Amino acid sequence: MKIISNPLELKEYLKNCNKSIGFVPTMGALHEGHISLIKKAKSENELLVVSIFLNPTQFLKGEDLDKYPKKDEADKKICQLSGVDVLFYPQISDMYSQDEVSLLAPKVRGFVLEGTSRPGHFNGVLTVVMKLLNIVNPTKAYFGKKDAQQLNLITLMVKQLFMSVEIIPVDTQRDSDGLALSSRNAYLSPLEKKEALKIPLSLYLASKMVSKNILDAKEITDAMREYLESLEISYVEIVNREFESIKKVELKNTIILVEAKVGQTRLLDNIWL
Ligand code: AMP
Repeated sequence: MKIISNPLELKEYLKNCNKSIGFVPTMGALHEGHISLIKKAKSENELLVVSIFLNPTQFLKGEDLDKYPKKDEADKKICQLSGVDVLFYPQISDMYSQDEVSLLAPKVRGFVLEGTSRPGHFNGVLTVVMKLLNIVNPTKAYFGKKDAQQLNLITLMVKQLFMSVEIIPVDTQRDSDGLALSSRNAYLSPLEKKEALKIPLSLYLASKMVSKNILDAKEITDAMREYLESLEISYVEIVNREFESIKKVELKNTIILVEAKVGQTRLLDNIWL
């Protein structure tokens, strides 16, 4: 596995490879969720590039940038064992300068849900993803459905800016209890982890209601909110795949999303129906 930190060096290295390139961008502290993206990218492409970059511009003031888990050596080992060909591992100064051109998330879809609780977050996400896609120029890039709004906005960016990469969504990986895997789960105490299980269970409750033909969005979100009562809920929302709020579940076109805080840890989860 080659490890490259300089964007121009990576660009040069990949320029004449004449292979299909699969790309998985991450912020490190890799877990089975990331590994599922890496495995899929490996199986669908001739060359596999993974990036590890804790992108400062997507963190708001006072968020967990400084204490975000870092596992450099373990991450490198995981990449090596997963058959990664090139690991892109830049420093902040490799990616950003003092005076930057800015990319802004769309005014509506970028500022609802996660965009409301973290205003400006998606500006940073789209900027770094644009930079990474321009450096790697992949055939396909892989993103988790767990970050559904991020996936939606990246797909929108690629379409609206006429980029040629194909964005591939990957299903959410969960631990044996059902909790969606996340680097931030490392912050949870055993007791908090138990509390956190209410999040996937609330989504299970919602899917049960839908299977009983209860499709009214308010009825479902009210039941979920009641179930999640002991947590600090940021949002419980039902949207279509375009991220527009809907009043009735539309089968094969619905995402039910939750964001809630357990202790100091903000957790996201969703189901696609
Ligand atoms: P992150 O390192 O948190 O920026 O995540 C990197 C990529 O992994 C993103 O596309 C995430 O959506 C994806 N990802 C994170 N957690 C999971 C999970 N539990 N299952 C599937 N993909 C995930």
